[in-house]
Amino acid sequence: MSRAQQRAVAHEEQLLQHLLTTSENIYIAVVDADGRYIYVNPAFDKRFNATAGELLGTYAPTTILAEDRPKLVEAVTRCFAAPGIPIRITLRKPVIHEILWTDWELIGVASSERGTVDRVLCTGFDITRQHAMYDALLASQAEQKEALAALEESNTRFEQLVNHIDVTFWMSDTALGRVIYASPAFAKSWGHTVEELYERQEIFVESIHPDDRQLAVSALIEQEQGRQTEREYRVVQPDGSIRYIWDRGFPIMDTEGRVLRVAGIATDITDIKLAAAHIRQLNETLEQRVEQRTLELRRTSEQLVESNRELEWAARMKDEFLANVSHELRTPLTGILALTEALLANTYGAISDVQQRPLNMIEESGRHLLSLINDVLDVAKVQAGKLEIELEAVPADDVCMASLRLVREVATRKRQQVSFAIEPIGLVIRADSRRLKQILVNLLSNAVKFTPEGGQAGLIVRGDPQQKTVTFTVWDKGIGIPEERQQTIFEPFTQVQSDFSRSYAGTGLGLALASRLAILHGGSISFESKVDQGSKFHVVLPWAPSTGKEAAPPAASSAEDHQTGESSLHSLPATSSLRPPQETAQPATASILLAEDNPVTSRVVTDFLVAQGFTVMQAKDGSEALHLAETCHPDLILMDIQMPGMDGVTAIRRIRALPDKALARVPIIVLTAHAMQGAREQFLQTGADGYLSKPLRLAELRKCIGEYVLHR
Ligand code: ADP
Repeated sequence: MSRAQQRAVAHEEQLLQHLLTTSENIYIAVVDADGRYIYVNPAFDKRFNATAGELLGTYAPTTILAEDRPKLVEAVTRCFAAPGIPIRITLRKPVIHEILWTDWELIGVASSERGTVDRVLCTGFDITRQHAMYDALLASQAEQKEALAALEESNTRFEQLVNHIDVTFWMSDTALGRVIYASPAFAKSWGHTVEELYERQEIFVESIHPDDRQLAVSALIEQEQGRQTEREYRVVQPDGSIRYIWDRGFPIMDTEGRVLRVAGIATDITDIKLAAAHIRQLNETLEQRVEQRTLELRRTSEQLVESNRELEWAARMKDEFLANVSHELRTPLTGILALTEALLANTYGAISDVQQRPLNMIEESGRHLLSLINDVLDVAKVQAGKLEIELEAVPADDVCMASLRLVREVATRKRQQVSFAIEPIGLVIRADSRRLKQILVNLLSNAVKFTPEGGQAGLIVRGDPQQKTVTFTVWDKGIGIPEERQQTIFEPFTQVQSDFSRSYAGTGLGLALASRLAILHGGSISFESKVDQGSKFHVVLPWAPSTGKEAAPPAASSAEDHQTGESSLHSLPATSSLRPPQETAQPATASILLAEDNPVTSRVVTDFLVAQGFTVMQAKDGSEALHLAETCHPDLILMDIQMPGMDGVTAIRRIRALPDKALARVPIIVLTAHAMQGAREQFLQTGADGYLSKPLRLAELRKCIGEYVLHR
C-alpha cells in the first residue's frame, strides 16, 4: 500500500469513526456469535441503555420487547448461516411511556480478512415518529373506513328507500345546469332510465305534457332564484301513458346565498289521482243514481197523484153509487110505505081493527128499514168526507126536547123515566140542528133500548163558560157495556153482543155516526159504562157563551113532524099522521098530472089522490108528461126526476119553455129519491115550485098539493 493509499484509508476510518460517534439517529451495534453486544455506538447506548457502557456483553435479545425477541434470534442465526446477506427487521423496545420503534439491517461479517463469520453488524435507525404517523394514518384509515361504512350504510338505506318507493329524488347542479342525480323511481314515472336522463338531460322537460311544460319550467327558474317550488304536472311516457307528478324543489345555497344545487322530490301521484277520479266517478254514478231515484220517486208520486185521482173518482163513483142505491132502495120502499099509509087512511075502503095492526107493523118495519138505509148512507157520506154540516145558532133545549120527544113513546112503552136538565137555561149553541138531533136521538134511543123496563135514563146539558164547551150527557141505568168491548163500540157495525142485537134491534151504526157527527162539529164523544149499572155518553161541543140575548131562529118545535125518512132513530115508532079525508078538504075538482115511472108508486099516489077527489093523469116518462101537459092542461104536475127516456129535469125545462104562458107557469112539484145534499136547491133552480123527497108521506103530499091548487 502506498503512502497515499495509507493516508486515504486512515481518512476514511476517521470519517467512519466520526459518523459512528456523532450520529444521533443511527444506531450501530455488533453482536458476537453468542448474541452479546461487543460494540454499541454512543447513540445506541444512549437510546437503549440507562447507563453508558453497561450494554457491552449483554445478551442482545433481552434489550428488546419480549414479543420481538424470537425475531431477533432468528435473524442473527440466519446472518451466521448466510454471511453477506443483509436481513431487515423491525424491533421494539419499551422505554418510559412509549415504545421505541427501530428498523434494522443485520449482516454477518468476519473479524479477519479470511476468517469465518464471527459477528453480526447491526445498523438501525429510529422510526418511532414515522411509526406514530403510520399509526395515526392507520387510525385515520380505520376511522375513514368506519365513516365509509356508515356512509355506505346510509347509502344502502337511502338506496333501499329510493328503490322501493315511487318517489324520484333528484338533484341538479346549478352551475352545470344539469341533473346530477335521479333515483331509480324516475324510470317508472318518466318511462326513461336514469342513465338515459344523464345522457340526454332534455328528457326531463320533454316528457312533461305540453300543457304543463310551461308550469314545470317556471319552477326551474324559481329554483335558480333560490325559491322553493311545488308543481303538479303530467308526464307523457314513450308509450303514451300519462303519469301525474307532484314535484317539489328545495334550493341548496352557499353562505353567500348562491344556489349551488337543487334537491327535489317528485312524487308519482297517478294512483291517488286515479283513485280520486274513480271516487269522483263513483260520486257521479251516485248522483246519477240519486237523480234516477228522484226520477223514479217523481214517477211514483205522479202515479200516486194518478191513483189518487182514480181513488177520488172511485170515491165519487161510490157516492154516486150510494145515491143510486139509496134511490133504488127508497123507491120500492116508497111504494110499500105509501100503500100501507094509503090502506091505513082507508083509501081502499075501511080497515078493520084486525087489519090495522099488521098494517101498522108493515109501516113500522118499512120506516125502520128506511132509517137503516139513511144511516148507511150517512156513514158512507161521512167516510167519504161528503157530509157537510151547516152551523147555525140553535137553542139547545129545543133540540133536546125534539130529541126526547122521539124516544118518548118507546120509553113510555117500557115504563121508563126519562129526565132532562139544562144549565144555563136558554143556552144557545152553534150547531147543525138536524145533525145534533141525530146525535142525541141515537144516544137516547140506545139509552132507552139498553135499559130494562121500568128503568131510568136522562139527558143533562151543561154549558161550561170557562172551557167554552157544552156537554150533552145521555145517561141510563141499563145493562152497561163490558169493558173488553168498550174499545170498539164506535166502529161501524159494532154491536156488543149478537144476542143483544137480536133482542135490541139496531145496525151498529148509530154510535159510529154520532161520533163522526160530533167530530164534524169540532167536538167529541166519550163514555163511561159499567155492566148492570148503566152508561153515560158525553158529547162535548165547542161553545161560545153569549153575553147578551142571542137571536136564535124560531125553534123547530115540531121537528119530529118534519122528520122524514132522514131520521136515524132505529126504533122510531110509526104513527101515521095521515087522517082520513076530511069533509072540509079541498073540493076535488083539480086535475093532477103524475109523471112517475115506478108503477107501484104511481098506482099508490094515483089511488090516494083519486080517493082525495083529484083527477089524475099518469105519465111514465118525461115526454109523455110533456105531451099530456100540452093536451090536458093539468092544474098541477107531480114530476119524478129519474125516468127512462126524457128525465124530469128536461121535462120541467120544456114545460117552462112552452109558448102557452098559463101552461108554462103550471105548479110543478118534484118527487125524488135524491136524498143527497143540495138536491132540493138544484131542482128548484130548474124551475120546480116544490120538492118532496121519497119515500113520500101521503099526508105531506096532500098538504103540499093543497098549497098550490088552493091558490088557483
Ligand atoms: P146499535 O144501537 O144500532 O146496535 P150503536 O152504534 O148505536 O148501534 O151501538 C153499538 C153497540 O154499543 C150497541 O149494539 C150496544 O151493544 C152498545 N151500546 C150502545 N149504547 C149503549 C148503552 N147505552 N148501554 C149499553 N150498550 C150500549
